[in-house]
Amino acid sequence: MPEILRSLVLMSHLKEESIDTWVDRLRGDDLLAVICGFVPGQIPGVGTFYDLLDRFWLGEKPCRIRKARKKRTKLADGEKLPPKYPGVMDRLVARLLEGRAFTCREESVLHQILAISVVRPSLELGLLGDPKDMTTAGDGSIYETGGSPHGKKICKCEERCDCKRRFSDPEADWGWDSYRKAWVYGHTGYDITAAGSRYDLPIYIGMGRHPATIASWPYAAWTISEGSTRTSSLQDSLPMPPMTPTPSMSC
Ligand SMILES: [Zn+2]
Repeated sequence: MPEILRSLVLMSHLKEESIDTWVDRLRGDDLLAVICGFVPGQIPGVGTFYDLLDRFWLGEKPCRIRKARKKRTKLADGEKLPPKYPGVMDRLVARLLEGRAFTCREESVLHQILAISVVRPSLELGLLGDPKDMTTAGDGSIYETGGSPHGKKICKCEERCDCKRRFSDPEADWGWDSYRKAWVYGHTGYDITAAGSRYDLPIYIGMGRHPATIASWPYAAWTISEGSTRTSSLQDSLPMPPMTPTPSMSC
């Protein structure tokens, strides 16, 4: 359904956050409908949009009921949160050296969409630089969620309580943004960009994944046969061996 996918891109571009409102806008604006590829008057229902979104994620849906998460520690200016899982890099590197592949089946549809509709055309247009001599850069980023960190009360307590609540974005958590010097409620991502060209376009977007697992960069790997990798200070400080994506690193 390319029309719905195109309309989701336009929805994000126009900073519209509600699918219900977006569908109403498409129904009332023939120009928007035509830009997305819809025939005016034949806009799919809200449920069709959600059905498509459900197919983007192949894993199980997370449970929406949980306790509220708290900010962990107070940090000084410029300080970063300590690693959540100390030693994880050593374990991941050991597995890589054994020739094991990391899988991220849950995200694979999203990776294919990025690779087929964005990375491959960008490569063909020469926007990613020379694929035979490619330089890539990787860095983490923070994505703030629109979901509330407080959730919705589902118990019958009349006083303030610590019971489980319902969250619209159940996997979001608090993280410290050392650049903005502020707590942010949302998700972390790790992106790889084609740094050898002046456009610096993303070729892999890993949501909520540990930087080490970029060793499994999925479909973007077809675009890269040889090249060097420059990574952020985070990885430079960790025992990460040089990585060249190979076909065995499937995702
Ligand atoms: Zn309660």
